[in-house]
Amino acid sequence: MSTHEFQAETKKLLDIVIHSLYTERDIFLRELISNASDALEKMRHESLTAEDVFDAKVPLEISIDLDEDKHTLTIIDTGVGMTREELEKNLGTIAHSGSGNFLADLAEAAQKDVNLIGQFGVGFYAAFMVAGKVTVQSRSWDGSEGNEWVSDGTGSFTIADCPGLHRGTRLILELKEDAHEYATKWKIENIIKEYSAFVPFPIKLEGETVNTVQAIWTRSKSEISEDEYNEFYKFIGNATDEPQFRLHFSADAPLAINALLFVPKENFESMGFGRVESGVNLYCQRILIDQHSENILPEWLRFLKGVVDSEDLPLNISRQSLQDNALVMKLRKVITKRFLKFLKEEAKKDEDSYLDFWNTFGIYLKEGVTSDFEFQKELAELVRFESSRSEDGKPTSLAEYVLRMGADQDTIYYINGANRAAIEAGPYVEMFNKKDIEIIYTMEPIDDFVLNHLGEFDGKKLVSADRADLDLSADGDKESQEEKDDKLESGASGELIDWLKKTLEDQVADVIESKRLVDSPAMIVNPDGYMTSSMERVMAASRMEKGLPLENSKKNLEINLASPLIKQLAELSKSDEPFAAEVAAQIYDNAMIQAGLVVDPMVMVERNYKILNKAVGV
Ligand code: ADP
Ligand code: MG
Repeated sequence: MSTHEFQAETKKLLDIVIHSLYTERDIFLRELISNASDALEKMRHESLTAEDVFDAKVPLEISIDLDEDKHTLTIIDTGVGMTREELEKNLGTIAHSGSGNFLADLAEAAQKDVNLIGQFGVGFYAAFMVAGKVTVQSRSWDGSEGNEWVSDGTGSFTIADCPGLHRGTRLILELKEDAHEYATKWKIENIIKEYSAFVPFPIKLEGETVNTVQAIWTRSKSEISEDEYNEFYKFIGNATDEPQFRLHFSADAPLAINALLFVPKENFESMGFGRVESGVNLYCQRILIDQHSENILPEWLRFLKGVVDSEDLPLNISRQSLQDNALVMKLRKVITKRFLKFLKEEAKKDEDSYLDFWNTFGIYLKEGVTSDFEFQKELAELVRFESSRSEDGKPTSLAEYVLRMGADQDTIYYINGANRAAIEAGPYVEMFNKKDIEIIYTMEPIDDFVLNHLGEFDGKKLVSADRADLDLSADGDKESQEEKDDKLESGASGELIDWLKKTLEDQVADVIESKRLVDSPAMIVNPDGYMTSSMERVMAASRMEKGLPLENSKKNLEINLASPLIKQLAELSKSDEPFAAEVAAQIYDNAMIQAGLVVDPMVMVERNYKILNKAVGV
């Protein structure tokens, strides 16, 4: 017999499981049955190709035995089993502990809702919610001799030889005093019916099968009740809520497909859980061939839960060869297009409910636009943004924008900002408001990349309003006499522009007269037609994260020749040039801030005080 310490994270995890999880303990059984079922699925898959399977004739099933007097619960499966090494590794460490915040996230989630621990893939340790001592006897399908793993869940576990076992795993839970009810038949039967009804292997409770084994996705829609669908979702998604959307479809040509896909209500990634695993399992003729398949749907649809079953796939396909299998790629395309079409239909049916979805999962579709060229056209119809015409918090589609466009407008405009108020107070929307042209507000860092990737919609170019070459005078309206009179006359303005170029030489690429500022004195625009200020900000942040030097490209400063401040500046540059230079630098910094770009706060504050001193007459 050998004694082993649990990995440090595992110890902490066990501590959380044993000491903080008092409610909803029932879920421990779901976790253990799901492990047994996984082991059976693996066995079924292996036996398709493997030559030598130990105990090959033993039926694939789960048995549960109870002893009310001894207060024990025993779960037996005839799955792949574990070797000595596997016992040590699988039941001593946490495989996918992922990020460093894993345990903190888990502790928090456990306090909120114990059901969430299933999402962390730490299911086995849930046994210690109800058991003071857990014994795992296991024999691998490779036929090597069996072993026994024992632990009380505190610091360590032991592993010893255990000869004479059949293939598979036997878990013996010695129930804690306050958990004796888990050795009673009615209790266990109820839990199985609630959580494990769809396990695709017989579950025998004291010799009697208690679940009905069925592949719900192969049945016809009309025969399946809402309840059955929801129960299946809970089973397949390890979920406790109800799905937000459901798509069940079958096709015969060009490929035979049965798919049942669910959109959950919550986005676990946004709740701090780290990147979620793909939630769709790939089956062939009801046999699981790829659990949490990363191949059957694009990565950006990883939030979906469900099943794809296709008879066209070869049963004995290996997981590695799924990756570049032409048939799998074809399936992926068909199913993805079908799902995006489904979303479009849902949006048409009920835009409000679609917006609920969009608010929760829109970020994934945006990821799709920027990472996957293949579905851009479909995705462009599904994206939503706020705009100068949309209500606060009620984003609009690009198609609706196009419907509202004036007859002579051939461009869709957008501008990035932290929020609606900041954008509306900024310089970029002034001319749009004056001319009554709708402008989209992009408020997430990824948004400008999304619109940039799309490039156009419905034949209309997508253009950021902070581009230097933006021209809103296309509709032919001329500058009025009044507007001309208001402006700095051309000689003085030429001199001012030259002076500004010289003064701000290190900061700007060019200084130009603005044709689109109404009230603000100045604004920053991007001479590089591709990058927007928002994109630059995102890239600067990622350079900073990587410890790379910042590389801000030089921008153009547009100035408003009708602004009293600019007009006064022209005179000041002659009467008090050093002070005028401070004012110019401040105008530049202000414009940078309004563009959401970074300025040196120390330098700016110091300069600002100088200007204030002058203003109050120090
Ligand atoms: P997960 O199921 O998410 O991998 P668990 O904590 O539930 O995490 O289980 C850890 C690992 O232990 C499993 O991945 C599997 O390799 C192994 N395991 C657990 N139960 C069994 C079982 N009944 N038969 C074979 N292997 C098992
Ligand atoms: Mg598990």
